[in-house]
This record gives sequence, structure tokens and C-alpha cells, in this order.
Amino acid sequence: PVFAQFALHERLLKAVAELNFVEPTPVQVAAIPPALEGRDLRVTAQTGSGKTAAFVLPLLNRLIGDAEKRVRVRALILLPTRELAQQTLKEVERFSQFTFIKSGLITGGEDFKVQAAMLRKVPDVLIGTPGRLLEHLNAGNLDVKQVEVLVLDEADRMLDMGFAEDVQRLAGECSNRAQTLLFSATTGGAGLREMVASVLRDPLHLRL
Ligand code: AMP
Repeated sequence: PVFAQFALHERLLKAVAELNFVEPTPVQVAAIPPALEGRDLRVTAQTGSGKTAAFVLPLLNRLIGDAEKRVRVRALILLPTRELAQQTLKEVERFSQFTFIKSGLITGGEDFKVQAAMLRKVPDVLIGTPGRLLEHLNAGNLDVKQVEVLVLDEADRMLDMGFAEDVQRLAGECSNRAQTLLFSATTGGAGLREMVASVLRDPLHLRL
């Protein structure tokens, strides 16, 4: 397999080449085509499998083109920890380096007012942890009504960390979304099944 087999914008393929990604990993081969078609996905795959690129590339492909009209948060990526959110931001920035897409990070442990100022500039892609994102939503600093793609990464860990309600609330606020992508390292238990049932619409389940 090669990345050029995917219907990805040339500016994304250029970034893929720049990053020296030669062959897509199995999770990328399985997830990128249905994600590009707009399907909701539930993906069970380990960290290190290349799952980040599997959702970041289709997400950026959707936003590319009219990202210049930057007035709303168009993609929201939720992760359980600040470290994972920081790593994901880096990956998004690397893949969007030849585009006009801007991303932002919102996690606990950072200055709330500085974050509020960043949110006033309205990034296209917002990456963060549920608790602090919800605080900004409640403070009126954040509007996610126009989010087109919602990603729940490490969903099983978010549940283990007690974020179930926060995630449900944020997903509910993304009421106009066209696509939801959920990733977890394990098949999870009843909590994950409940989350899948309430946030995903007719999902394709991929187990890698
Ligand atoms: P992840 O599972 O998303 O945390 O990715 C693990 C690591 O593999 C990251 O450092 C990625 O940049 C890298 N990676 C992901 N996909 C590929 C690929 N197709 N070729 C080379 N490296 C990759």
C-alpha cells in the first residue's frame, strides 16, 4: 500500500512525504477510505499503530480548501491527558504544514485567560482534554455548534478517568457534526458500549 492510493489532497500527500511516511500502517489502510467517505468509525487499535494519522488526515482533508474562511471551530479532538493532547497537536500541525488550517490546544494546567484569548482567534481544529474544554464552554469562551468532525481518542481511557459525562456533554454540544470517530486501545466494557451507542451513528467497527 502507498499513501497516494487514498483520495487525499495533494497538500496533505506532500506533508506525508515530508514526514517520510512511505507505507500506510494497517489501521491507516482500514480507516482512511471510510473516514474520507464521511462514515462514523469505531476503531479498536493500539497506540503506536499509526491511529493518529488515520483520523488526522481525513479530518484535514475535509477542512482543506475553505479553511481560509476561519470563523468557527470545525473539528474537535478529545483526549484523556495533556501529554496526549500535546502530541496530537504536533501531529496535526505537521500534517497541516502546507495548508492554512490553524489548530489550538486546551488542557488543564495552563493559564485559563491565555487559553480564552487563543479561543477568541477561533482555531479550525481544537484539541484538548474534556474537563478544561467544558470549563471554557460554560464560561462562554467556546462555541462548538459548527463542529463538523468530532474525534474521541483513547475513549476507553477517558472513561477510566471519569470523563464520561464531560465527553457526552461536549458531544451533545457538537450538535451539527457530520462525522464522529472513536478510537480505543481495548474493546472496553459497558461504559464504552454506551458511549458508542450514544455518540456514533451507524458506525463501522474496525478491529486492528
Ligand atoms: P500513533 O499510533 O498515532 O501514536 O503513531 C505512532 C508513531 O508512528 C508516530 O510517531 C507517527 O508519527 C508514526 N507513524 C504513523 N504512521 C506512520 C507511517 N505510515 N509511516 C511511518 N511512521 C508512521
